[in-house]
Amino acid sequence: MSSSVALRLPSIDGLLRHPACAPLAERYGRDSLLTGLRQLLDELRPGVLSGQLAAVEIGPEVLAGRVGERLAQQQRSQVRRVFNLTGTVLHTNLGRALLPEEAIEAVQMAARYPLNLEFDLASGKRGDRDDLIEGLIRELTGAEAVTVVNNNAAAVLLTLNSLGARKEGIISRGELIEIGGAFRIPDIMARAGVRLHEVGTTNRTHARDYQAAIGPRSGLIMRVHASNYSIEGFTARVPTAELAELAHAHGLPLLEDLGSGSLLDLTRWGLPAEPTVRQALLDGADIVTFSGDKLLGGPQAGLIVGRRELIAKIKKNPLKRALRVDKLTLAALEAVLSLYRDPDRLAERLPSLRLLTRPQADIHAQAVRLQPLLADVLGEVWQVSAVEVLGMIGSGSQPVARLPSAALCCRPQVSKRWRGRYLLNLEAALRGLPIPVLGRIGDDALWLDLRQLDDEPAWLAQLAQLQVDR
Ligand SMILES: *Cc1c(COP(=O)(O)O)cnc(C)c1O
Repeated sequence: MSSSVALRLPSIDGLLRHPACAPLAERYGRDSLLTGLRQLLDELRPGVLSGQLAAVEIGPEVLAGRVGERLAQQQRSQVRRVFNLTGTVLHTNLGRALLPEEAIEAVQMAARYPLNLEFDLASGKRGDRDDLIEGLIRELTGAEAVTVVNNNAAAVLLTLNSLGARKEGIISRGELIEIGGAFRIPDIMARAGVRLHEVGTTNRTHARDYQAAIGPRSGLIMRVHASNYSIEGFTARVPTAELAELAHAHGLPLLEDLGSGSLLDLTRWGLPAEPTVRQALLDGADIVTFSGDKLLGGPQAGLIVGRRELIAKIKKNPLKRALRVDKLTLAALEAVLSLYRDPDRLAERLPSLRLLTRPQADIHAQAVRLQPLLADVLGEVWQVSAVEVLGMIGSGSQPVARLPSAALCCRPQVSKRWRGRYLLNLEAALRGLPIPVLGRIGDDALWLDLRQLDDEPAWLAQLAQLQVDR
């Protein structure tokens, strides 16, 4: 008999008045609750009509519970903190450099109060936002002037367009690189209105190749630091100083896109050598472009530094207005640059440098300490070991250089045909934690490189919640 009694969904009004819904209205607002309830009832209606749902599945408490879960889910921020245990320190997809406390405070100040973004406090007149960091940049790089834009891709685009539009840009074939899908030097040149004049070959380009390309249509010579690959073996490249001499003899500017670039010689911290901005300028580059959030360790930004009259020309380009940085970026950038004035303490104070220079022995000791805890949570199907590995700087900085590091290596002790599935399940479970943990899969194992595991307490606190599907 009971099957003939048609089930009916509770009414919206009835649900809104139900005590189980009152706290939800309080917490998420009546409108959100109403929308959530309507959606849920619409979804359930066909099941009710077809008799597939039982009465207990549509009781007010049950519905309130389901709507509550959804509202909580919706309220959770889409921008989430994660643990980057991928082994790549400056990971473009994970936000690259972490800012130092000084920069975080500067960002807070800039977010909270009005500030002298384009106002010269000394004269009381209108100012220029680039002036806020020009003094520091001059001191740290020896450049005459600077302008800052949204990222280094923008810096390259703006520079090319300002100095070479409708003219030819001469560049070695070996430097026509692609940096992550969308950014390819030939495409950027085309968009900037610069005609590409490639010279030399992929592996060898000589001064005479550049020389032969220079003519009445030439606008500039460009050099791009091949930051995300390396050509080894039978290679030749013209030193910047020689190229600058050639460019200047013909009245052409030499642009150098350093990509990452560094303000200081990183070998003093045992890191692989990376060209410094100061050296590129000393060698005669007229304009040097580099990223704010790669080796510099600051916010996303593109810095264009070099000769004053060229920078002035770049700043006059209307595109500059479209590509400029905001106050939060400038505040952070100034704070980060300030730290470079004291190189002796930089590795303690700049998170990216601190992480890049963390000794392998330290990281390994941490892996040894955490190994039994993770092994315990994962159970006997998984063999967990603390092993030495090689990580990467990332973001196209030193693609071939490896950072000696240590990792927790998780291997499923199952037959080969199941391994892939186990690994993907573990990866998904780690990603599903309140603070998602990102590692990498390779060689039939999941690797958690601990170089960047700074906040060990937070990592440990959520470990017990790890539940891996079989
Ligand atoms: C990374 C890189 C860029 C792009 O810099 P973003 O700051 O990511 O826009 C351009 N050129 C080179 C050589 C790079 O390495």
